[in-house]
Formats: sequence, C-alpha cells, structure tokens
Amino acid sequence: MNGKLSEKAEEILEKLWIEVEEEGNFFMDMEKIPLTPDDPVFHELTDWALIEMKDGQVSLRPEGKEEGLKVVRRFRLAERLMMDVFNIRGEAAREKACQLEHLLNEGVDTKVCTLLNHPSTCPHGKPIPPGQCCLEARMSGNLGVVPLTELKANEEGEIAYIQTEDNKKMQKLMAMGVLPGNRIRLTQTFPSYIFIVGFSEFAIDTNMAREIFVRR
Ligand SMILES: [Zn+2]
Ligand SMILES: [Zn+2]
Repeated sequence: MNGKLSEKAEEILEKLWIEVEEEGNFFMDMEKIPLTPDDPVFHELTDWALIEMKDGQVSLRPEGKEEGLKVVRRFRLAERLMMDVFNIRGEAAREKACQLEHLLNEGVDTKVCTLLNHPSTCPHGKPIPPGQCCLEARMSGNLGVVPLTELKANEEGEIAYIQTEDNKKMQKLMAMGVLPGNRIRLTQTFPSYIFIVGFSEFAIDTNMAREIFVRR
C-alpha cells in the first residue's frame, strides 16, 4: 500500500496480526481491541481495505495481514535495538520500542535489521518476521549472530550476548564464563547442549542454549 498509516492504526494491525497469526484466532472482538465503528481509525483501516467487520468482530484482510506483519517486525526489531544496542530492558524498553516502531519504515527497518545481524527473535523469544534482508543474508550464509542452538557440534564462535530476563539464569551462565567476547565451542547438541568455555565443559538444556547468542 502507498501512504502511511496513523500510529493508532498500526497498533491495531499489530494486535490483530498477533491474534490471527500467533494465537490462531480468525476474529477479534471490537471491544477487546478496543475499536468502535465511529472511530476515525476504523475508517482509516477499512478505507485501506486492511480489516473487515462482521457482527462486532474484526478480521484481517490479506492486505491487512501483509501490513500487520511489517508492523510486528518493526516493533520486535525496535525491542531488540533497545536491548542489544542501548541495553534498555523491561517496561522502559517496551515503551520506547512502542514509540520507535513507527519510525522504522521506508527502509530504516532494513538498516536496523542489518545492524543487529538479522535477529530471528525478539527479547521475549517471539519470532521476528524475516524481511528480504534476512532472507538474502541467510542465503549467502552471511548470518552474523545466531543462537547457540544454530551451531553444529564442534562448531566454535564468540559469545555476542545473553538474552534472558531471568537473573538467576544470567548469573548461572556468567558463572560458567558465558560472557560476551569469550570463545565457546559446542561439543554436543543432543540430548542436551554441551559446550566448552575456557577449559571447562558445561551441559545446558535447549531453552538456555537459545538464550546465548554467538558470532560465528
Ligand atoms: Zn517482544
Ligand atoms: Zn534482516
């Protein structure tokens, strides 16, 4: 579509997209969004043919799905930017990401995505819908930072960052020497992940392995 949606319209698309694509529901109650038929945003979304209303329930039209995916992508990239680059976490990070997401259009999202090495998940582990830049980077094998779970047995990398909101886990990993800049070598991927950092070997489960990001 041509033209720019209002911030409120983008936020509604974001909510609807998550409801439809991730929660597996086809409709959402207007009250739950919340949205009313006399709201200018409602007209904005229906004029662009992004949403459809039936019996007080709203669904996404194919154009709305396409647009919603881009909004979700921008929001989750903004979340990553807050955490990975600015080291802002928690509620403050969410608020700032909510404001920033609206600025990441017209190719800015591609620049941010490239800067962050095409991350596949947000700080909460939700998938970031890949853009063209991610597909190209994946095809050329040019993916900089990946979760430890993407490494093969006996592959080695440098720890880029740890992504967890659980302080205990963070401390446990730090005590193992899992710190940015340290080398890590994966020795086994099943049934648990075994790796070597320094001169010590450790075993962790998949969930924890997903939270360690490594530069290949
Ligand atoms: Zn998130
Ligand atoms: Zn990308």
